[in-house]
Amino acid sequence: MKSVALIGLSLSGKSSLGRMAANALGMPFIDVDSEIEREAGMPISQIFKLRGESFFRDAETRATISAAASGIPVVIAAGGGVVLRRENVAALRKSCFVVFLDRPVWHIMRGIPHDDSRPLLKSPADLRDMERERRALYLAAADAVIENDSDIEEGLARLLGLLRSDWPETPDEYAVIGDPLTHTLSPAIHGAVFAELGVTGRYDVIRISRGELDDFTRSARVSRLKGFNVTMPHKGGIIPLLDEVDEEAGLCGAVNTVIVRNGRLLGFNTDMGGLLESLREADRDFSGSRVMILGAGGAARGAAFKAAQEGASSVVILARRADRARKTAEDVGSALGFPGLVRGGEMSPEVMIFEARAADLVINATPAGMNGVGGDLPSLEFLEALPDSAFVCDLIYNPAETELLRRARELGLAARNGIGMLIYQALLADELFLNRKLDRPALYRTVEEMLTK
Ligand code: NAP
Repeated sequence: MKSVALIGLSLSGKSSLGRMAANALGMPFIDVDSEIEREAGMPISQIFKLRGESFFRDAETRATISAAASGIPVVIAAGGGVVLRRENVAALRKSCFVVFLDRPVWHIMRGIPHDDSRPLLKSPADLRDMERERRALYLAAADAVIENDSDIEEGLARLLGLLRSDWPETPDEYAVIGDPLTHTLSPAIHGAVFAELGVTGRYDVIRISRGELDDFTRSARVSRLKGFNVTMPHKGGIIPLLDEVDEEAGLCGAVNTVIVRNGRLLGFNTDMGGLLESLREADRDFSGSRVMILGAGGAARGAAFKAAQEGASSVVILARRADRARKTAEDVGSALGFPGLVRGGEMSPEVMIFEARAADLVINATPAGMNGVGGDLPSLEFLEALPDSAFVCDLIYNPAETELLRRARELGLAARNGIGMLIYQALLADELFLNRKLDRPALYRTVEEMLTK
């Protein structure tokens, strides 16, 4: 059984309902405001008067974290402002079923005392402002909402009804973080996998901008998240913020999957495993292949790394900036202990044609051709120089058929888009999240069918 935390505006009934519910459930009761007063040795009104609001908020955070960390299940009446700090919410959500007591403002107004015991509630206008500021935060932090718009007996009956009937086996939480995330398919893919496996997992989208990554990783350690995926622009930037990074992810310099274990963040890269699986499904492999990679960014680096590691007979990286291509090639070769195994060069039409003559696997790891992203490859003439048996793989999946793939198919070449890599990297991430081997080919078909619909 989990602890229960009641959140909501001041005077919404947290303390009275909390105490009564604790008695009825035979659980200890902790009133955070009383704990703060006990620690400070003075009433809250005096704390505000003598020490100020920020002193009070620090004390509230200490008392909230300590209540949430009680070794046994308890009922907690949280402070009204508990949702103003992310760490408070993280602590409550980690160990408690969080219930928002939603009491209409006009009911609360009737109960506002005419003394200074509620320093932030001097007038009804204060209450309305407070509600405007906090309502969305209460809803976001809560697992359930109780409308406390009647008398105390009815409020208690509703709360106990919720806690007894629907005693929350809250689902494990996962997410993808990045920015922007408008078109991410991750929730749909992981949702389909969880549904197929009968796992009660929830998969959210959390938009985290560059400046927020540090804060996010700190709160992720204490949140209810069991794991999360990482996408642009954080795949490289998250590495120094993790506790451990798997060797392959470290060598690729990119993490796309993090599991949260006992407050520690462990980073992995499943993108490259996803690419390999996707090639294998098309009866291709890196082993013995002569690989030509377009682009010198994160995906190109990972693809070159995987190709070299899996026994490609040669790997060349071509990029608009030849120096960047050479540097990436050098890094990958040195990381694997074979300097010179991977070459770099300029992505000019002439060099592309020259390299294509000796290539049997082409990987487009640039966004050229992606919906909403301007720009094309400098030329597609190189496709004609490829041997008939060559395979063209575009990591882009939106659109399903880029101009590169269309022209390759027109020339009779085998070709495939990036959806296979996307699905397989998600399945490999799910194996890490759920800590078990999955029937990947079967789940692949389930997800592919869902995406096609
Ligand atoms: P990145 O780090 O930004 O690297 C992009 C590379 O493409 C850079 O070398 C860039 O060159 C080059 N580039 C950009 N526009 C170009 C153009 N018009 N012509 C020639 N080169 C161009 O991006 P990334 O993370 O490696 O991702 C690359 C692609 O892979 C994206 O389309 C991404 O969606 C896709 N991807 C797919 C999956 C999947 O699961 N299917 C997974 C990961 C990535 P400069 O350095 O000169 O700008």
